[in-house]
Amino acid sequence: MTASKSYAAGSAKASLAPFSFERRDPREHDVVIDIQYCGVCHSDIHQARDEWGGATFPMVPGHEIAGVVAAVGSKVTKHKVGDKVGVGCFVDSCRTCTSCQRGLEQYCTNGATWTYNAKDKDGATTYGGYSDKIVVDENYALRMPKNLPLDACAPLLCAGITLYSPLKHWQAGPGKKVAIVGMGGLGHMGVKIAHALGAEVTVLSHTLKKIDDGKRMGANHFYATSDRATFPKLKGYFDLIVNTVSADVDWNEYLKLLRVDGTMVLVGLPEKPLSVGAFSLTGGRHSLAGSAIGGIGETQEMLDFCDQHKIACDIEVIPIQKINEAYERVLKSDVRYRFVIDMASLKSR
Ligand code: NAP
Ligand code: ZN
Ligand code: ZN
Repeated sequence: MTASKSYAAGSAKASLAPFSFERRDPREHDVVIDIQYCGVCHSDIHQARDEWGGATFPMVPGHEIAGVVAAVGSKVTKHKVGDKVGVGCFVDSCRTCTSCQRGLEQYCTNGATWTYNAKDKDGATTYGGYSDKIVVDENYALRMPKNLPLDACAPLLCAGITLYSPLKHWQAGPGKKVAIVGMGGLGHMGVKIAHALGAEVTVLSHTLKKIDDGKRMGANHFYATSDRATFPKLKGYFDLIVNTVSADVDWNEYLKLLRVDGTMVLVGLPEKPLSVGAFSLTGGRHSLAGSAIGGIGETQEMLDFCDQHKIACDIEVIPIQKINEAYERVLKSDVRYRFVIDMASLKSR
């Protein structure tokens, strides 16, 4: 076992604070990763505050992990010491169920092993990326883009793939009108990726404050949802709406923005159950769907796509000592557009 430094939440009401624990010794197929950067996802806040229930403490959040391979087990073939690698939201899965066989490990019917706030196959608690190192099976580590800065690529491991997967699945591309609702960590990646796929992109944001950024990232149109004229104006317009909002909104209003046969995909995870009227769906053969991150193969495809199209995240790098302040700022939508922790700061605590 190796001692690892981290920041952890001791309870749902506690601030994150320094915490030490042990990582397992590498097995034959494990890689040991020196974590250099870790993105701060809104899901980290939901879980550290136990907003989804069932949280276990102490909890070391973090599932947008980017670093360098420091050591490899004797049978590792996919990565070598010195490689830039990443780890996303899960570190293992059963590998045999239909979902795993289809490369949809995130939907593993036996339950994927989440990167933190979970138990691994041996029953040990998993600890995430707000730490100096992680030990993970080579099959669950990704090759990071070669031509882009590692810090700005860390959030691709969750925010990037969470938007790439539904955009690909529902065929965003030339001739398709796509709306991205909420321009936060996930949403801003949705704008960049949908634009790179060739779709016409519209951002639906609270206000017009982020309009210049949205247009710079590739949005063709940008509307404020606080302006009541927006909804009647865009009625029946979109082929696809990807909703990243983490709060309870009037879902029926958004469904009316779909054209006949259009789909709204939820990726945001508000605490409350949705309230949807049947007429919002039957009125235009509309589909309401959900999507979670992406499988290992698709995540690698997304990283390669981003490398090729020079797409990285807009980030604000922080030392880990500022994590509690960063959480408060995410809750106020006061981040352009993702916080990334520089893990070198752990050494200076
Ligand atoms: P974020 O950076 O906080 O962005 C959320 C955005 O939603 C905000 O920037 C804001 O955009 C909008 N918003 C926030 N509060 C709102 C309100 N009360 N009414 C309307 N709009 C509001 O969060 P994130 O990291 O992108 O995550 C978003 C959600 O996705 C979270 O619930 C997270 O847990 C979930 N998530 C899901 C997956 C998945 O696999 N499905 C993966 C990662 C995260 P504007 O300022 O533009 O309005
Ligand atoms: Zn996430
Ligand atoms: Zn499985």
